[in-house]
Amino acid sequence: MSAKPSCDEFDPNNLRVEQALEQIHQNITPLVDTIELPLMQVHNHVLAQDIRSPLNVPAYTNSAMDGYALRAADLPAEGNVTLDMIGTAYAGTPFNHAVQGGQCVRIMTGAKLPDGADTVIMQEHASADGDRITFAAAHNEGQNVRHPGEDIAVDEVVLKQGQRLQAAELGLLASLGVPQIKVRRKLKVAFFSTGDELRPVGEALEEGQIYDSNRYTLFGMLRQLDVEILDLGVIRDVPEAIEAAFEQAADQADAVITSGGVSVGEADYVKQTLDKLGEVSFWKIAMKPGKPLAFGRVKQAWFFGLPGNPVSVMATFYQFALPALRHLMGETAEPPLTFQVPCSEALKKRAGRTDFQRGILHRDEQGKLTVSAAGMQASHILSGMSRANCFIILPLEADNIEAGTLVEVQPFRGLM
Ligand code: AMP
Ligand code: MG
Repeated sequence: MSAKPSCDEFDPNNLRVEQALEQIHQNITPLVDTIELPLMQVHNHVLAQDIRSPLNVPAYTNSAMDGYALRAADLPAEGNVTLDMIGTAYAGTPFNHAVQGGQCVRIMTGAKLPDGADTVIMQEHASADGDRITFAAAHNEGQNVRHPGEDIAVDEVVLKQGQRLQAAELGLLASLGVPQIKVRRKLKVAFFSTGDELRPVGEALEEGQIYDSNRYTLFGMLRQLDVEILDLGVIRDVPEAIEAAFEQAADQADAVITSGGVSVGEADYVKQTLDKLGEVSFWKIAMKPGKPLAFGRVKQAWFFGLPGNPVSVMATFYQFALPALRHLMGETAEPPLTFQVPCSEALKKRAGRTDFQRGILHRDEQGKLTVSAAGMQASHILSGMSRANCFIILPLEADNIEAGTLVEVQPFRGLM
């Protein structure tokens, strides 16, 4: 059964999610400022240069096991062979004599393979009687040996500019001995909340007032993105106050994010202010939650006017502001991970808007991955966002979804 059509849906003036994303992406050109920083300070920065390896990794032929290095030619086709152990090779302290026929060298993981040896036999497959070591048949030539450049070859491009440097990349750069790296500087993002009904935490609420939660949500999301943050607080719905806040934000930051004040009833004076200070489009996006979204420039800063409802703030931040900020900081990010799983229950949906429902991805009794709705789906139910671990993305054309249908999910953990 499909839900009753509503005149809210299929507004021809609504912009599709993909169209809005495209327009934002087309407008924003990445900042080009680069800085050179020591390796320990580049975490979460975006790489501003391709990194070519100055060396082979591994740099020299070495052992993958604790065992014995020997010449494969000495290994028997059947039965056993006993060889003389002539020394030990440690990681960091090589054994500097060649291994001859009839000889072997005790060797530790990572130690340089002595000249003459071509194979390492695990210690578990050998038996020692003093310096006489016995090996059985059925070993392969060259086994347990790591070769120079098999991980990374000298001069190979290991990391590309535009990549965000995280733990693995820091380790990789260290393994190449790179001490200083050219990266893009971090973005500075200013944000504030608008609304006469909003009170900061710590103050008592009077009738009709609510606590300003969006600023905390935004703070958390921006912290996760690891940008510099300028928090301008709650701004009253007074044109002069709004204008002053926009001026200050735009003068000090690369991007300005606000919540509230962009819906039809409120947009008028915000719009007047923004017309004075920059060039901003007020969109109605065919999405739920979300819908009102303002995007453009305020002075030199990029501006994202997110809706006021707490879940809408998160959904529009993740879907629009986040990819835009990443693009602005020069990151060549893949689109966030999505995949399909069956939903364990029916989902209410009206055709005409793309839904970003809040879902809980979990395993059913058979151990199969499935998704259920995280409670009520209204755009003010922030507790649902907290219970959820993913968006369930239901396409614009879709109507009500029956239980068991394959739906697309976007895990929150894959978003940053
Ligand atoms: P608006 O877009 O300003 O009309 O706000 C839409 C809804 O979101 C209203 O119910 C507001 O009270 C609520 N809202 C706006 N800003 C915030 C905020 N910073 N924290 C919590 N709720 C908010
Ligand atoms: Mg408001």
